[in-house]
Amino acid sequence: MRALHDGHGRSVRYLRLSVTDRCNLRCLYCRSNARQRFIPHAQVLRYEEMARMVGIAAALGIGKVRLTGGEPFVRKGCDDFLVMLRQRFPGLDLRVTTNGTLLAPHIPLLRRIGINAVNLSLDTFDRATFARITGRDMLPAVLKALDGLLAAGIRVKINVVAMRGVNGGQMDDFVHAARNMPLDLRFIEFMPMGDGTLWSSEIFWAAGEVRAEAARRARLIPVKADAPGAEAESGPARMYRIEGGLGRLGFIAPLSNHFCLACNRLRLTSEGALRTCLFADREYRLRGLLRHPRMTDEALATVMRRACAGKPVGAELLRARRAGAAVAARQMVGIGG
Ligand code: SAM
Repeated sequence: MRALHDGHGRSVRYLRLSVTDRCNLRCLYCRSNARQRFIPHAQVLRYEEMARMVGIAAALGIGKVRLTGGEPFVRKGCDDFLVMLRQRFPGLDLRVTTNGTLLAPHIPLLRRIGINAVNLSLDTFDRATFARITGRDMLPAVLKALDGLLAAGIRVKINVVAMRGVNGGQMDDFVHAARNMPLDLRFIEFMPMGDGTLWSSEIFWAAGEVRAEAARRARLIPVKADAPGAEAESGPARMYRIEGGLGRLGFIAPLSNHFCLACNRLRLTSEGALRTCLFADREYRLRGLLRHPRMTDEALATVMRRACAGKPVGAELLRARRAGAAVAARQMVGIGG
């Protein structure tokens, strides 16, 4: 099959697959004031359906798949699904993004299947701040999982949503972690996702300012964006080595310095809606097609190819919206980040 390309000369090689919209945390950046309605179970894709979509995507040149959510490990059978994906697509770059609270018992399996990396969402190393951000006092479980991942030799990236007045005063802890552990710690700008988002201009902490704050504590040595594999490995993050340290710091600036022209991703929500851009609310509903008895993989591939052809440049959509408004109608918990 022909590879996926869009109308802006970008090739699409990365699929973020949300396995569930349910989560055991209530992170303030993921939440909104609106009441959250969960997708009824019958409307959530079965693992077999998700695996079929991965197969079609892989045939179209997608080489990297990330399971996300909601929280992937709250869905029953997530381990079996990972094994299924690894067995059917041995060469796939397979990753998971998780809040880490339920992760520890799954680490031996992740190691066994050769997971390519685990992204841990961990916005603070302070227990009280963790409870404030997530609504749950579960930092010890996440730190245990972090230790377990490193001990198992699994590649770890920590995602920190940068928030002034919340974790903004904790740069010492972040630099300490990246200096002393062999991992990438990446700051992500808080994006106003979903109507009623708790985002405000006071809480927003631009990536450039976060980097300046880090640079007051450590000498940051830029990792060249054109180093072999740098783009595939770091995605939209600008990465820096810490002089004399084991890990690296990264800065992801979707709002202050968007990276749309390098975007190579597609998203599939747990109810089978394909999104070609985080900021575009247009979704291609694939569940009905997937469940149609006469629907072939070739026909589904054609739908995906057409959707990709119309993949927009998110920054243009952002500009068209008034300042302060949500940048997408759906909350992140339903999209998967
Ligand atoms: N539950 C999993 C986790 O916590 O990693 C996966 C889902 S979570 C929606 C995926 C990522 O989205 C997390 O790294 C989180 O930090 C990020 N995220 C969620 N809402 C965000 C927002 N408003 N702005 C920036 N990043 C956000």
